[in-house]
Amino acid sequence: MILIDGNKISSEIKEEIAIEVQQMKSRGERAPHLAAIIVGHDGGSETYVGHKEKSCKQVGFDSTVLRFEDTITESELLATVNKLNNDPAIDGFIMQLPLPKHISEQKVIEAIDPRKDVDGFHPINLGRMVIGLPCYVSATPAGIVELIKRYKIETSGKNVVVIGRSNIVGKPISILLAQKSNPGDATVTLTHSRTKNLKEVVANADIVIAALGQAEFLTADMVKKGAVVIDVGITRVKSETTKSGWKLIGDVKFNEVAEKASYITPVPGGVGPMTIVSLLQNTLKAAKGEIYPK
Ligand code: NDP
Repeated sequence: MILIDGNKISSEIKEEIAIEVQQMKSRGERAPHLAAIIVGHDGGSETYVGHKEKSCKQVGFDSTVLRFEDTITESELLATVNKLNNDPAIDGFIMQLPLPKHISEQKVIEAIDPRKDVDGFHPINLGRMVIGLPCYVSATPAGIVELIKRYKIETSGKNVVVIGRSNIVGKPISILLAQKSNPGDATVTLTHSRTKNLKEVVANADIVIAALGQAEFLTADMVKKGAVVIDVGITRVKSETTKSGWKLIGDVKFNEVAEKASYITPVPGGVGPMTIVSLLQNTLKAAKGEIYPK
């Protein structure tokens, strides 16, 4: 069994990005600049934005965080999005979700200029992804593809089963791996809570991607011997053994599934660290005008 080490790969990619930023600066160009908008005081969102700021610093990016109270109106937030859309000093920005109930997330996402939508949530980027055009691919599926690439895991002709059909993970990763590309060319089955005989479907999978958000859902009896297992799930549970009093659990019962898998991602330290790195990669592409020429 080979452990897919997301911490190691994400550090390598950060180093590669940092070198490229150095080269940009030595050519007299400014550093890529990522902005984040955060509304309210959601603990999870604060943590994510904090990680993003730290990662930007590590690779030499400029970063800006715009914070608002959850009393902000939808039109004020849309005006802020518009300001960032038109600010030439910002290459890309993200709207940290969730937003308060009185604001339409979809409306705000659609207000982001697709050229600056480094989270890849805008329908234009999603649509371009579906038809295989250059676009910003959302961070988690992009991170999974990068892990598959760097570990040279064959996907062509393989049976891939994705569990969970969210717009940010399940749906995009199922499309990416079904594309005529490498990684890709897989036969993909996208499953969800209404799927009948899930066990039989998963038993046939060469690659299983668990993204349903149910702690330790995938057990060894469900997995074919030699399968590749990618665990996207993150569930925070109380723990007496950690300093913080919390620990993270994936959607896979790691210890028993690891004995049958050929490759497996741990939680934490698998897909998680790749997510922020993908965002950095998208921001670098934005700064270079790689997807949408400036
Ligand atoms: P959602 O929570 O939005 O959706 C869950 C999906 O799983 C739904 O499609 C649901 O089906 C399906 N599902 C739920 N229960 C079952 C079941 N018993 N059998 C089959 N399918 C089921 O998904 P997200 O993609 O937002 O999140 C999934 C997990 O990934 C979470 O733990 C989240 O924290 C984590 N995550 C991790 C990231 C990372 O960086 N590592 C990034 C993003 C998410 P239905 O559509 O029918 O309701």
